[in-house]
Amino acid sequence: MISKKVLDAINEQVTHEFFSSYQYLSMSAYFQSTNLPGFANWMMIQSQEEYGHALKLYKHIIERGGKVELEAIAKPKMDYRSPLDVMKKVLEHEQKVTSLIHGLYELAIKEKDYPAQVMLQWFIEEQVEEEKSANEVIHLLKQVGDAPAGLIMLDRQLAARKAE
Ligand code: MG
Repeated sequence: MISKKVLDAINEQVTHEFFSSYQYLSMSAYFQSTNLPGFANWMMIQSQEEYGHALKLYKHIIERGGKVELEAIAKPKMDYRSPLDVMKKVLEHEQKVTSLIHGLYELAIKEKDYPAQVMLQWFIEEQVEEEKSANEVIHLLKQVGDAPAGLIMLDRQLAARKAE
């Protein structure tokens, strides 16, 4: 049986993951509006992955016989200054999510919830990947600087990302 504390915390994380999905969808729309379809594609896949994260937690609750509580999803930010501004916000957001996941893991240890610990280990690894991929794009954008040709090439590169 899942404890009330762990259940509540996982339910909260479901909402955080849905918010991530929503936030990245808004970023995808921003890139569409600035004529960067490759970045928009990258962000759309990112958004879909976050939806998948929410469902992973959702399924864990169901499998453990817990009650799913879906909360309201906040309105995401819609305006950004530049591609670099967006990607810096992605990194910031993922760093926040990493600390939330770590907090959840600490709680699962405290509550001796072994199934939740195993499930959360997947998320701990995933967060390493999330921060790494945001950092990679930031690095590339910094190299491109103000060169429009470089930005177009990077956009083409990001267009190649496919859903897993
Ligand atoms: Mg996530």
